[in-house]
Amino acid sequence: MKTASILGVHFHDVTMEQAIESAMTRLRAREKGYVVTPNPEIVDLCRQNGEYKEIINHAALILPDGIGIIYAARLLGEELRGKVAGIEFAEHLAAAMARERMRLFLLGAKPGVAEQAGKNLCSKYPGLVIAGTHDGYFTDPQQAVDAVNRCGGADAVFVCLGAPKQEKFMADHIDEMHATLLCGLGGSLDIFAGVARRAPDIFIKLGLEWFYRLLKQPSRIGRMMKLPKFLLLVIRERLFGRKGK
Ligand code: UDP
Repeated sequence: MKTASILGVHFHDVTMEQAIESAMTRLRAREKGYVVTPNPEIVDLCRQNGEYKEIINHAALILPDGIGIIYAARLLGEELRGKVAGIEFAEHLAAAMARERMRLFLLGAKPGVAEQAGKNLCSKYPGLVIAGTHDGYFTDPQQAVDAVNRCGGADAVFVCLGAPKQEKFMADHIDEMHATLLCGLGGSLDIFAGVARRAPDIFIKLGLEWFYRLLKQPSRIGRMMKLPKFLLLVIRERLFGRKGK
């Protein structure tokens, strides 16, 4: 798979269709791996923490989540066909898994949210098997690993703990978990459960989903202020070379 390097993170240049096909091929072959969906905030974390960058760059699929990544690619002259948002990847993957009656485990969010997300996904995608659920506020990660293994394992696990917790969890525990593909998907369970809503289509089409989230949740301002810094770093890399690596 071709990659595009943005401040040292090697994104896969794939369409949504190719990303799903690649994930399904792995699931069918039972080839273990994890999927990450970095946004500018995660790329910035990678710059500050080499170990975290290694975790991200070792993923089986590294999908560009967010319009900021696409702008960065354009500024750097790197080829990236377009955004592959984590929530959309999750939705398409659940649909594809349902067609093959695969088992999905939902891990993350506040107590009760994963169960509701599971119910909603099952009624939307008949055939999908929810292997089990567990909230994301465990004190010992082993509790979450045991929950997946006790239910007889799963083909895929949606790991929705927020960054960087979810990526570290996946890298640390993939070997001991009875599951093929772990997917780090941030706040997706809140959306599947109906606890949170995605921006209206018009915001998504205009590349302004981040702005909608800010309006809904002004406390995100601290996190969002990382975006201008990210773009400045990208411009610096473009002008003065690969200092972001
Ligand atoms: N979360 C969790 N455990 C934690 C911290 C967060 O399960 O210890 C959940 C949180 O409830 C939310 C998700 O992780 O459902 C993170 O959502 P956020 O909107 O921050 O992620 P994004 O989609 O922006 O990456």
